[in-house]
Amino acid sequence: MYKIELIIEKMKTTDLLKEYCDKEKFIGFCKKCKNYNKVWSCPPVKFNSDEYLKRYDNAYIIGTKVIYDEKTIKNTNTEEKISKVTEETFHDVKKLLATIFLQLEKEYENTKFISSGVCDICNECSRSLNNPCRYPDKMRYSFDSFGMDLSRISFKLLNTEIKWSKGQLPEYYTLISAFMTNNEIDNLKEKIENHIIKYN
Ligand code: SF4
Repeated sequence: MYKIELIIEKMKTTDLLKEYCDKEKFIGFCKKCKNYNKVWSCPPVKFNSDEYLKRYDNAYIIGTKVIYDEKTIKNTNTEEKISKVTEETFHDVKKLLATIFLQLEKEYENTKFISSGVCDICNECSRSLNNPCRYPDKMRYSFDSFGMDLSRISFKLLNTEIKWSKGQLPEYYTLISAFMTNNEIDNLKEKIENHIIKYN
């Protein structure tokens, strides 16, 4: 149905903030989303998001390309099917990545991953009930919460154009997440790929 390809670029956290963060603009876009103030992983966050990232010296930006095969694109031929396949793909790939990234967090001290998009661990987030997050040990904040220009990160840093469905499944989707750490991690791509083979 699809294959996964990873593109990883390392940069200093200070450069990430300087070059790709524009909170006023991008948190502004988030305000129009149904998840704004409804899911704990999403904006508005209740802490200084720059300071949160600056606790880590290095940002490994991870683009996960989910590339569909021709048959899947051809057979996903109605709006309903496109929504279903897209939703299931995002849910499954994010779950797989979260499992791997939480495992890697344990292997490297002072490390935290930033998720691609909204947390969907629970059917309904406890934030809408004004209760604390049910799984703070598993929940990770979305990259959007930090006011990042994800299209520019994808295009300029990862050399990948972000694609969306337009009457048919795109050739690929790109999920952008980050591994924030005070370590230098050799071969992060190979490490994640090995985990993908193990868990998939
Ligand atoms: S783990 Fe559950 S309660 Fe916590 S942010 Fe995710 S959906 Fe909300």
